[in-house]
Amino acid sequence: MSASPTAVASSIRTSALGPVARAAGRSGRHPNISFEFFPPKTAEMEESLWAAVRRLAPLNPAFVSVTYGAGGSTRERTHRTVRRLIEETSLKPAAHLTCVSASRAEVDEVIRDYWQSGVRHIVALRGDPPGGVGGAYAPHPDGYANATELTAAIRRMGDFEVSVGCYPEGHPEGDLNRDIDVLKAKVDAGATRAISQFFFDIDAYLRFLDRVRAAGITIPIVPGIMPVTNFKGLVKMSEAVGTSVPAWLASLFEGLDSDPDTRRLIACSVAAEICAKLEAEGYNDFHFYTLNRADLTYALCRVVGVHETGNT
Ligand code: FAD
Repeated sequence: MSASPTAVASSIRTSALGPVARAAGRSGRHPNISFEFFPPKTAEMEESLWAAVRRLAPLNPAFVSVTYGAGGSTRERTHRTVRRLIEETSLKPAAHLTCVSASRAEVDEVIRDYWQSGVRHIVALRGDPPGGVGGAYAPHPDGYANATELTAAIRRMGDFEVSVGCYPEGHPEGDLNRDIDVLKAKVDAGATRAISQFFFDIDAYLRFLDRVRAAGITIPIVPGIMPVTNFKGLVKMSEAVGTSVPAWLASLFEGLDSDPDTRRLIACSVAAEICAKLEAEGYNDFHFYTLNRADLTYALCRVVGVHETGNT
């Protein structure tokens, strides 16, 4: 029996769908999203952060995290941003905290301050050497040596949810085997979730997940999704944090240095494809590095099936 023209047309349309359209057509999606912001330096940056918060809040993220500048340089600004999120929105903030250049007593004071301000979720990180990524890390003589010790301290001090970092392509100072042992130690110390460094190699991410699960680590591992608009900046950052930049990504951005509009369109399409492919593998949690801008993240949330709920 030959297929009707309509059936043929529809089968052609279906087989031609890419991962984004296939994801949109999938039923029973239960995505969990979260956003990362950084504390603003200037009044203008403050304005754009809060515009992004207002635009993204109705998407009802599980939490929004606020980074902590290298060496604790943004301690006050991080705290102020987190406090304002608590006071002015119904979002659940997760405050990043590092061990760098601070004694245990100083870090403990920050943890206590967070608790008193109503923060119940901390992203516990060791942090990078004060001279920047790449230098040798030396813990403060009276400080927490690493994220494992910090996680244990946070859990001792209050009933916090603790997220930690993980590195699908390996942390630049370690090797993947040791990193997985370290992730296990962070879980044993009380970590409840791991958020990944950004990546573009989905196979490497999936292999990493296999190794993590084989090591008996069962906490949620949430992929960090970075929409890339500044390719030159990305190459520098990726080198520092150990993320590989595939040739196909470089070729997409080739010749677009003075064309930010096209770069943004490409950024969205690349990140959308990563999300949709992860979703096709059955992963529904996504942590978006917003860079304090709403538009790309807002579009990506639609790709993973998140629409406004009207909650702010
Ligand atoms: P750890 O988990 O402590 O590991 C660091 C390195 O030391 C790894 O190579 C590990 O294998 C090794 N190691 C740890 N413990 C041991 C041990 N007992 N024995 C031997 N080796 C060990 N940085 C900031 O400054 N501010 C931020 O807000 C921030 N946010 C981040 C958010 C995410 C999601 C991620 C993934 C990273 C973030 N970073 C931030 C960067 C982070 O601080 C750096 O990657 C840092 O170099 C490592 O931090 P960590 O918490 O992963 O360290």
